[in-house]
Amino acid sequence: MNRGIVAGNWKMHGSRQFVIDYLSALAGQRFDGRLLLIPPAGYLSLLADLVAQHGLSDRVELGAQNLHPEASGPFTGEMSGEMLKDLGAAWVLVGHSERRQFAGEDNQLVAAKFVAALRADLKPILCVGETAAEREAGSAAEVVVGQLEAVLELAGIAGLAQGGVAYEPVWAIGTGKTATPALAQEMHGLIRGGLAKASSQVAATIPVLYGGSVKGSNARALFAEEDIDGGLVGGASLEAGELAAIARCLAP
Ligand code: PEP
Repeated sequence: MNRGIVAGNWKMHGSRQFVIDYLSALAGQRFDGRLLLIPPAGYLSLLADLVAQHGLSDRVELGAQNLHPEASGPFTGEMSGEMLKDLGAAWVLVGHSERRQFAGEDNQLVAAKFVAALRADLKPILCVGETAAEREAGSAAEVVVGQLEAVLELAGIAGLAQGGVAYEPVWAIGTGKTATPALAQEMHGLIRGGLAKASSQVAATIPVLYGGSVKGSNARALFAEEDIDGGLVGGASLEAGELAAIARCLAP
């Protein structure tokens, strides 16, 4: 089973013109495997139309960066999984470290969002990862296992099996400090081991992506590790050619 995925998280960047130019540039690129584009939610439907127009529908899927746990209601400024699905998303990130840090999302809320994504028929990617202080204190493994277990408890292993996991050490996000392949592999092994305790079959099939300053120049060494199935890419995904170069690193 090929677990390879490269996902580009544009964060809060872009414009209508950026989306148009990006898709034109991407259509001229060679890339392998499964590519996800994760724009700000307001650009999803434009992006979905352009993916179809450029004949990329069989190779490019769309995702959202966040969702509200409820399907609808008096939650001004929020969007539900059902709405994101309606706009063309097939995937959604939950628990990105910027949401945990800036929006105060804790493990319980992240787990509720994971379950809400499944209800909306979206594939959730659970983001986990320790801060620099947690790593220095020697608690990286405990933090990451706790983040995973909160979702396992609420969604069950069958729920986890519908989506994926991204290990994103917070100290590596947007800092240019990529984890070494060996360190990333150690943490991915821990995550896959945690999943295997619940189901070895799910552990063997679920994609576990690495995120944290991935670029075309370091992706191949990371993706060569046994338990690293691809990347969740922030900054470098803002350039279509660079994201395609990263996706080419999925090839054996
Ligand atoms: C991210 O946003 O998830 C990320 C990993 O960002 P960057 O690639 O810029 O470190």
